[in-house]
Amino acid sequence: MSATKEILKPASKLLITEFGKRGITLKPTLSYQLISAAFGFWSHESTVDYTVPFEVLNDRHYFGAKPLFHHSLLCERVERLLSLDHQRSKDLTLLIVDLLTHHHPIRVQTLKVLYEPEYDATREMIFRVLQSKNSEPSPLASVAIALKQLPALPANTIDGHLRLMCSAPIVMNEVRRTVGEFIDQAPTWIWCYPSPFVKEAFPSLADQGFRKPRIEDEWMVPAVKPRTEIGVGFVLLQQCASEFADVAYAVVSGHYEFKTTARDPKWSDIKVLSIPRDEVTHFRHKALAEILGHPVDELPLLSRCRACGELIAVADAKPILCCSCPR
Ligand SMILES: [Zn+2]
Repeated sequence: MSATKEILKPASKLLITEFGKRGITLKPTLSYQLISAAFGFWSHESTVDYTVPFEVLNDRHYFGAKPLFHHSLLCERVERLLSLDHQRSKDLTLLIVDLLTHHHPIRVQTLKVLYEPEYDATREMIFRVLQSKNSEPSPLASVAIALKQLPALPANTIDGHLRLMCSAPIVMNEVRRTVGEFIDQAPTWIWCYPSPFVKEAFPSLADQGFRKPRIEDEWMVPAVKPRTEIGVGFVLLQQCASEFADVAYAVVSGHYEFKTTARDPKWSDIKVLSIPRDEVTHFRHKALAEILGHPVDELPLLSRCRACGELIAVADAKPILCCSCPR
């Protein structure tokens, strides 16, 4: 089963069950068509062809890309594929959006589309599909950057962000050093596109584009005021001490903020945050190994090239970080 289908299958089953309760027999093939349409894609086959990276998200938090649903396309597809009248299709459209928002939340991992070279040829097409017609400019920073509604970032790959991040300061236990020095002090693993179930990774998953000021913003303290920001798309993990667990990891994330107050609005340097996380499982908290499906030390390990001293990392025999040595 393809990775996409594995993520979409529980959502498909949910749709089939809920439609069944309403007296509608939904074939599995059609359920996949409706899920794709909910995100603006004309067919399920097109999401497979373009390897659209769907992911399951935390139903209590929307850090990172907010799912952008395309009500009118979805309604049109329900009407046509199920031969239903317009009112019935409208009701079912709302049902599908509700199921994909609250019961089995799914979104497109937009940072992956923005940063991975495999999307160089299809990136603009995918973002144009995701960009909802009635919300310009985009509420997602990734889409706004790709469609040139926001300036380009100082780097646009995982490798590029990590290089910039190495000279950024990180403060742990009141000690201030650079991320490069932090990496050199102990084994450090990199997790690209970490699960949105890891709240310590939220800054790296940020994807907040333009939004209109809302009345409730006035009640918030300035430190948490919504802003235009985007995460680097990965976290670094290094073992650290904890009072409450035998094993704990420092989860190091990074994000850029868009500085609008400057005369020439631009992206900030990467802001780095380190948050400790105990490697334990209890109510509403899973150990990282459980979320990953394998031990943390099976993630790509960062190391330094013996020849040039730059950071390198390999995942599944494929380099994810390369040094500048000729190959
Ligand atoms: Zn090298």
